[in-house]
Amino acid sequence: MSTAVPFLSEGQPKRLFIDGQWVEAASGRTFETRNPATGEVLATVAEGDEEDVNRAVAAARRAFEGPWSRFTPADRQRALNRLAQRLDEQYEEFALLETLDLGAPLRRTLAGRHRNTNRLLYYAVAARTIQGETLPHSLPGEILSYTLKEPVGVVGGISPWNGPLGNSLGKITPVLATGCTLVLKPSEEAPLIALRLAQLLAECDIPPGVVNVVPGYGRTAGAAIAAHPDVDKIIFTGSYQTGREIVKASAGNFKRLAMEMGGKSPDVVFADADLERAIPGAAMATFNNTGQVCCAGTRLYVEEKIYDEFVDGVARYAETLRVGNGLDEETVIGPVVSERHLERVLGYVEAGTSEGARVTTGGHRLVDDERRNGYFVPPTVFTDVRDDMRIAREEIFGPVLSAMPFRDMEEVIRRSNDTVTGLGSYVWTRDLSKAHSYAKAVRAGSVWINTGLLGDPAVPFGGYKMSGYGREGGLGHLDELMEVKSVWINTD
Ligand code: NAD
Repeated sequence: MSTAVPFLSEGQPKRLFIDGQWVEAASGRTFETRNPATGEVLATVAEGDEEDVNRAVAAARRAFEGPWSRFTPADRQRALNRLAQRLDEQYEEFALLETLDLGAPLRRTLAGRHRNTNRLLYYAVAARTIQGETLPHSLPGEILSYTLKEPVGVVGGISPWNGPLGNSLGKITPVLATGCTLVLKPSEEAPLIALRLAQLLAECDIPPGVVNVVPGYGRTAGAAIAAHPDVDKIIFTGSYQTGREIVKASAGNFKRLAMEMGGKSPDVVFADADLERAIPGAAMATFNNTGQVCCAGTRLYVEEKIYDEFVDGVARYAETLRVGNGLDEETVIGPVVSERHLERVLGYVEAGTSEGARVTTGGHRLVDDERRNGYFVPPTVFTDVRDDMRIAREEIFGPVLSAMPFRDMEEVIRRSNDTVTGLGSYVWTRDLSKAHSYAKAVRAGSVWINTGLLGDPAVPFGGYKMSGYGREGGLGHLDELMEVKSVWINTD
């Protein structure tokens, strides 16, 4: 497979995509995005801010009220199908670009082909399912009542960096299915995929202004979207610290909100589990995507009878995972996204050690010849962890796992739920009733039993507690982008 990315050689800086046009930022400013495997600048990108957001929101409003409003469900279905086909045809370039901008191994980004195209195909069908109801009521006379479902309007999409393609499609697909329009702000750490997707949209006869892409920083472009009086809804994915700022900023016009935030997900292993599956399963629930996964199972609770054997197995397994440049087909663990994030992850390793936990594998930056300029941290396993340590309470978003023993079901449920967040959870056991008891008791939006990190657009995904509200996926997702209008007719 060629490693040339035409999009990168088409000229720089990469511009904003507003109203179907590629435009400079109003301020003329740009920022750099780097390849985290080498530290080299990959591209310069126009830096959008409030003025650009204003232009993008105005374009999105015009499109919402104009040509896009005349698209029938069948037209929107066709647009989503075309997008799926185009993405499939050009998928290798997308996978490569994500590997270069995020650092994720090519074997992982290439493997996402089905997941990403499948999402578009699912929402293409979902576009045809939107319907109101006729409602029996108890009023006298010949009065008919029914509901209409109407798109909520202009949506502001604010994304993190840990899966730029999935994160962008997570905003674009429900917007296109429902007839809303979008101003998308990708993360400043990995903005290229969203811009490349804008190119694809332009090829699919989607009218100008329906999807606008404004890369820039959170405190400027992101904050402008969150506060904009003509944005009707925000779909945010990111940390709960940022989420809190967005909720506050959105209050001016009572925006509808879908908030998808991180967690500190528990991964519970009972002594009767199939260890051959559970050891790699528990390891990858944390180390997948270099730990940069919102529902990573970073709190590993192991029944005390098998604790030493199991944790040793996870550490030995972790040592077999090749850490390196994602372009190398043997690489399983890429770099973390940036130097700043590397420092943050290493800061947590230091905090764990100074609070008395013990590193059994990993725990340092890799600086040999091959990896010197990149941001590499190998899979790291901590033992001697207490529930009150920072490494057991705070989301690290890196390849760092905290292992702790437990005695029985009641104890592990209590400890699993002793967190402000509730996104994912995992349980490994051969006993179905144990698995079900845990699944019922854990306060989290997803439970994976004897497996991990599975997802499909037909299945809702989202959080309890401070992991957010709203669910992505499933037909119910579309209702989150619709208003319900009740109509009364006196037919007498
Ligand atoms: P982040 O919260 O720092 O940034 C997310 C986005 O918000 C970025 O685009 C950023 O520019 C923007 N932003 C920052 N400050 C803002 C402000 N004041 N107003 C508006 N926008 C602002 O998160 P991150 O570091 O990019 O991503 C990691 C986080 O995302 C983790 O907490 C992870 O768990 C979470 N995440 C959650 C899910 C999910 O589906 N629940 C999926 C992926 C990542």
